[in-house]
Amino acid sequence: MPLTAQDPNHQDSSKLSAERQMANSLKLKKIPSPFHNERPNQTIVDLLVIHNISLPPGQFGTGKVEEFFTGKLNSEEHPFFEEIKDLQVSAHYFIDRTGSVIEFVDPDQRAWHAGVSSWHGRENCNDFSIGIELEGTDSQPYSDAQYFSLTQLVELLMTRYPAISAERIVGHCDIAPTRKTDPGESFDWQRFRELLSCP
Ligand SMILES: [Zn+2]
Repeated sequence: MPLTAQDPNHQDSSKLSAERQMANSLKLKKIPSPFHNERPNQTIVDLLVIHNISLPPGQFGTGKVEEFFTGKLNSEEHPFFEEIKDLQVSAHYFIDRTGSVIEFVDPDQRAWHAGVSSWHGRENCNDFSIGIELEGTDSQPYSDAQYFSLTQLVELLMTRYPAISAERIVGHCDIAPTRKTDPGESFDWQRFRELLSCP
């Protein structure tokens, strides 16, 4: 539904429009992750999953997420790294606190972000979803730059994969509710959805 100036429940649409224009400077670089494989034949990509991660937990800008998703994390650097050293996980995208975006896995391929998961009765969400990691935690507010980059990235992906509708953008917590809480209460779904729907 388009936003209008008459709608008291939404922010002024011109402000949202300006915010969105700031998102038009998406910074994206590609760092290939070995942790991916082919999607099943004939898969229609129709789900987008939002996550959070920070390494060590709660620390930002360390470069350790890149190392983790590329299999290069040194387990001796931190006790938590020792715990996760044998995990082979990835996401298609990672958005750091400054809004910079890294593509680890081409979205035509299957990244390993969802784990045991189910969406409307369909299991193994990695098969048919795209995973986006926000650098963050469940409790610390995400940065403005992250919302802007996320919005622009998601719009690009929705154009490339038209089966991804706004209702098919979920949190990891929605597809693995007994295991996962991310992106957490710190993620402002209303703000994100308003940015996304801004004309
Ligand atoms: Zn997650």
